[in-house]
Amino acid sequence: MTDSRAHLAAQPGAATLDRIAHVQLRSITLPLATAISDAKVLTGRQRPMTEVALLFAEVTTDGGHSGLGFTYSKRAGGPGQFAHAREVADVLLGEDPSDIGKLWTKLCWAGASVGRSGLATQAIAAFDIALWDLKAKRASLPLAKLLGSHRDSVRTYNTSGGFLHTPIGEVKDNAAAALERGIGGIKLKVGQPDWRADVARVSAVREHLDPDVPLMIDANQQWDRSTAIRMGRIFEELGLVWIEEPLDAYDAEGHAALARALDTPIATGEMLSSVAEHVRMIDAGAVDIVQPDAPRVGGITQFLKLAAYAETRHLDLAPHFAMEIHCHLAAAYPLEPWVEHFDWLDPLFQEHLEIRGGRMWISDRPGLGITLSEQAHAWTVATAEVGTRP
Ligand SMILES: [Mg+2]
Repeated sequence: MTDSRAHLAAQPGAATLDRIAHVQLRSITLPLATAISDAKVLTGRQRPMTEVALLFAEVTTDGGHSGLGFTYSKRAGGPGQFAHAREVADVLLGEDPSDIGKLWTKLCWAGASVGRSGLATQAIAAFDIALWDLKAKRASLPLAKLLGSHRDSVRTYNTSGGFLHTPIGEVKDNAAAALERGIGGIKLKVGQPDWRADVARVSAVREHLDPDVPLMIDANQQWDRSTAIRMGRIFEELGLVWIEEPLDAYDAEGHAALARALDTPIATGEMLSSVAEHVRMIDAGAVDIVQPDAPRVGGITQFLKLAAYAETRHLDLAPHFAMEIHCHLAAAYPLEPWVEHFDWLDPLFQEHLEIRGGRMWISDRPGLGITLSEQAHAWTVATAEVGTRP
């Protein structure tokens, strides 16, 4: 580089002068084709799920750069997330969109009275994810590359075909179809009141598939400690990749005892809504495979802090839901991760992830690489905005 070019490169660019001018919020109710039941429904704790509420945030700068992020809730909380985000959105106006950590803290303090976890941080996750999308788009890089990627694709397994409302014949067909389309593993829901029914379903699928197909099970927190250890021992010989949420999501000591007792790895963390909650589980030795959910922990900024902590403990990573975001974050994790394949959000986006060879491939589109579909606009139930669109 010549002296003059080095001088130019050292000059502050337009990006450092650009400021957030406009924020738009969009609440979308995504209907599900079938009412969904996991073990929480069979134990009577929740009703079958018929829709997912999504909160999208679009952040736009004076210079015309924009980013799109989203968070979500299931069964309840969608209107609450939207209301909270609408209340705090204006603290972003006039700020430098590149200062994402500072802006997360500012958003968090704006809503500090209602806490630093749960719905309040889930709401601000939509802004945080939009800011990361914006930063990566400005750099003309896929988000995984902006973060620093370890791989161009991530292992993926299917969840949506193995729910408990689905008859076992259909579950077997769904599993075969998922593998046929290039997905690399299959997860089955368990945790029914009748443990024999769980054993029958898992055994039927294990026998139906090639013995090398990676298989996971997910009890959605519905076992007590003694049931979890009994079930874990029954399933031990199947060589499962993991047992997910065998116990209450906050039972650190129970998960730790289970992890010590079983050879099968214990995966958990999807219900936790802050880095601090994850750290408590990790420090207790409760988790072999950490399963953070970026929208639930407050966005990408918080996810990255947790991922760095998990790496220092040599833990494996398998983020929960929202594969459109998590494929990028998993690609940037040093240890080979798994990403959960759910097809539910597909109709919301114009772009779709490429899946082949058991893996999900990071596209070369800048940012998250997603834009809302016509259908997403049609499913919009509320919008709000602050600032002026340039
Ligand atoms: Mg789960």
